[in-house]
Amino acid sequence: MKLPFAESFKIKMVESIRRSTREEREQWLKEANYNLFSLKSDHVFIDLLTDSGTGAMSDKQWSAMMLGDESYAGARSYFNMKSALKNILGFDYFLPTHQGRAAENVLFSVLIKEGHVVPGNSHFDTTKGHIEFRKAKAIDCTIDEAKETELEHPFKGNLDLTKLEAVLSTYPKEQIPMIIVTVTCNTSGGQPVSMENMKAVRALADKYGIPVCYDSARFAENAYFIKTREDGYADKTIKEIVLEMYSYADMATMSSKKDAIVNMGGFIAMKDQELWNQASTFNIMYEGYVTYGGMSGRDMNALAQGLDEGTEFDYLETRIKQVEYLGSKLEEYGIPFQKPVGGHAIFVDARKILPHIPKEEFQAQTLGCELYLEAGIRGVEIGAILADRDPETRENRYPELELLRLALPRRTYTNNHMDVIAAALKNVYDRRDEIKNGYKIVEEAPIMRHFTVKLDRI
Ligand SMILES: *Cc1c(COP(=O)(O)O)cnc(C)c1O
Repeated sequence: MKLPFAESFKIKMVESIRRSTREEREQWLKEANYNLFSLKSDHVFIDLLTDSGTGAMSDKQWSAMMLGDESYAGARSYFNMKSALKNILGFDYFLPTHQGRAAENVLFSVLIKEGHVVPGNSHFDTTKGHIEFRKAKAIDCTIDEAKETELEHPFKGNLDLTKLEAVLSTYPKEQIPMIIVTVTCNTSGGQPVSMENMKAVRALADKYGIPVCYDSARFAENAYFIKTREDGYADKTIKEIVLEMYSYADMATMSSKKDAIVNMGGFIAMKDQELWNQASTFNIMYEGYVTYGGMSGRDMNALAQGLDEGTEFDYLETRIKQVEYLGSKLEEYGIPFQKPVGGHAIFVDARKILPHIPKEEFQAQTLGCELYLEAGIRGVEIGAILADRDPETRENRYPELELLRLALPRRTYTNNHMDVIAAALKNVYDRRDEIKNGYKIVEEAPIMRHFTVKLDRI
């Protein structure tokens, strides 16, 4: 008999979670103004809001924390992080920051100015926020296949080279500070970018003289997909693949709360010393001195260890197989979701489930609230609320996809939890026709409104 798959870890420490009643959840959701971000985590049974900073660190990471050097300047922990970045990603220069958006803030302070355009593949919300805040424009060049959720394509994170070249040839070089390649592409469903596509982007970037920046939060998951899906990479290690990926980049921003499996941290990495010099000034102003940025020594140590563990095949296989397991359950129940499954999450197609709810009533948000009411499971809307208003016209932007993202924290839940998630979603799916109305916005912030928006039932 072929042995079944099992996790490549055992559990050393646990945290209790509590179920609740539907009446309790009705009350709590109302108090949260139907914004899942506003719920207390104690009121959530299975928390799939994000995989960011919510993973379980290993025994080796915890022991690395104990060895953290908290010296203000030149700490050992800084040099541990420096050698991890050199060995694993191949960068000579870096600045620690407190998380990914801080890396964007510092780097973009140097490079992005009013009137610039920044082409990329479905820019992440904070990335887009930092671009638009500087009165520059993010131009989405993701392949069209990414918008068809049922279509199987191995690399839905790819940039459409025709769209990219159209941008590069339309605007003068001085107006394009960088091309952003998001690996994996969070917004389009945790979908990977192929090595072939990264090489082609590099070639176009060289042709037009534009630097390439990788938004790197899930770079290791991207490497796993290259190994398992792209010709010629099956026999390479994840670490070899990662080094090749970054050989085509000039710089990177990183949210270490994802693939470096820490609860807090980030960095900017670059190959150019002059850029490092310029970014250092902003890092010192916004984050902290260059050898700690926004991080404590113990956190830099845990990050260095996490980068190493996060780029091991066994760890990645365990992680991605859990996402696939949840996907296979949903498939069995006929629930539509973005295929193939992404690296860190399942993206349920809310528009297909609730086609009778108008997009102005926020289909994905409606599905998210229903799933919470059903079983205390918290997902997150990736739809019109997140898409925000157009910065110029102030009109609501309605994206082509209305998705409910179920993000899986790393090494945190078991497959029994996956069974509960799938069953709860099936119950909602079975009663979808009884869900008659969506939500309306009663209060919102001028930018990145999804975090604090207040909603009411229609
Ligand atoms: C999470 C994330 C960011 C922002 O990082 P934070 O650590 O949340 O600030 C940027 N880009 C991508 C692709 C991400 O997933």
